[in-house]
Amino acid sequence: MNSIGKQVLNALKGEINEIDYQRYIKQLTYDESESKSNLAVFRVPNALIANWVRTKFADKIAHLFEIKTNIKPTVSILIQASSAPTSAQNTAPLNMERPSGSLLNPSYTFQNFVVGDSNNFAFIAAKNVSEKPGVVYNPLFIYGGVGLGKTHLMQSVGNVMLSQGKTVIYTSVEQFLNDFTRHLSNRTMDRFKDKYRKCDLLLIDDIQFLSNKNQIQEEFFHTFDALRNENKQIIITSDKPPKKIGGLEERLKSRFESGLVADIQPPELETKIEIIKKKCEINRVKLDREVINYVATIIENNTREIEGILSKLNAYSQLMGVDITIEFARNVLKEQMAEKRSNITTDLIMETVAKELNIKPSEIRSKSRNSNIVYARRIAIYLSRSLTPNSMPQLAQYFGMKDHTAVSHTMKKIQELMKNDEDFRVKIEELSNKVSVATPE
Ligand code: ADP
Ligand code: MG
Repeated sequence: MNSIGKQVLNALKGEINEIDYQRYIKQLTYDESESKSNLAVFRVPNALIANWVRTKFADKIAHLFEIKTNIKPTVSILIQASSAPTSAQNTAPLNMERPSGSLLNPSYTFQNFVVGDSNNFAFIAAKNVSEKPGVVYNPLFIYGGVGLGKTHLMQSVGNVMLSQGKTVIYTSVEQFLNDFTRHLSNRTMDRFKDKYRKCDLLLIDDIQFLSNKNQIQEEFFHTFDALRNENKQIIITSDKPPKKIGGLEERLKSRFESGLVADIQPPELETKIEIIKKKCEINRVKLDREVINYVATIIENNTREIEGILSKLNAYSQLMGVDITIEFARNVLKEQMAEKRSNITTDLIMETVAKELNIKPSEIRSKSRNSNIVYARRIAIYLSRSLTPNSMPQLAQYFGMKDHTAVSHTMKKIQELMKNDEDFRVKIEELSNKVSVATPE
């Protein structure tokens, strides 16, 4: 009799294409001893396959379990320790699930963090805190959008202190709450207090989820004060500044603001490029400059996408036994872009271009010969022709040009520029991705 894990993988075989099956699913082994009814553990040989399986197949796998057992488990894809080909540092999957409590991602270090204008302030603050915990800013409150490196930064401090033998707790609001409830019902609140009030560093990720949870706010407040009175460092992250977190007690807000509040902004193109290079280095993926630039234009602000893209490129290139050229990358990632591009209109392009180049949308369609406006108009025409189904005569009419030859002339001009000027090409690609991102779903 096959294990339930094997049965599920067999069932999955019938639902996905042969290549995906051979390439990924065949590499999975079900870890029977680690699995429970609500947790299915699989092992894979490396981080890239792990990432790929997590993003593409984990949901399907969970669903197939549910069909067979009536319980939908959490699917955990872990790296096989024994067959890991490189050092722990290199194979550490960057978004791997962690057992509850304290474990930190070992690759979330200051060294692996790329500093740019967008995150410089938070980086320096975190660095200072790691050098003088409990002294400089307590708490350190880091806020910013999804995937901008908040967890990475807070865990960097954690990894520094861990290496010094300090006690570090990394937790989410949810874990803190679960822990609290469990200890409460087991009547072991002493142990709860010991755990959270006796550590050297408490990292609480995504504190915005504290919103409207009154009982746990109360408990967190006391934990916070106990730690701070002992000069133990607290680092908090959130998707918004303390003031803007709704349903949060005033006294907590003022505590959060009493140390240092540091924001992280979306990365500039150059920072994105450096982050991709760093991720390539860590994951041992080789990409040339052109491909790196291209990937940088595809990702939006969420840096998390990078790993998925790298793993996709790497897997395909291994499968086909070819190098990752720019044509190859475009092809592989085409689908990703196509999905985003289905609803683009000329109006949207005009608005996006105008906003990016700091002019009014109406100026783009005006007869102005001002060089900035002409430049913007050409780009808008080029993007409209590339990203929408409009014909050249339609575009000529829309942009107030004499006839379609004027549009054709503009297209040639821009194409030539893109061929000869890499910076310009990157800018155009970035703009076209911005348009795609602005598209209503
Ligand atoms: P957040 O917690 O803000 O949602 P994460 O810290 O989880 O974001 O970051 C998402 C991914 O992007 C992680 O793999 C992280 O290592 C990477 N990342 C984000 N910013 C940077 C950066 N400045 N340098 C290197 N990697 C980064
Ligand atoms: Mg995070």
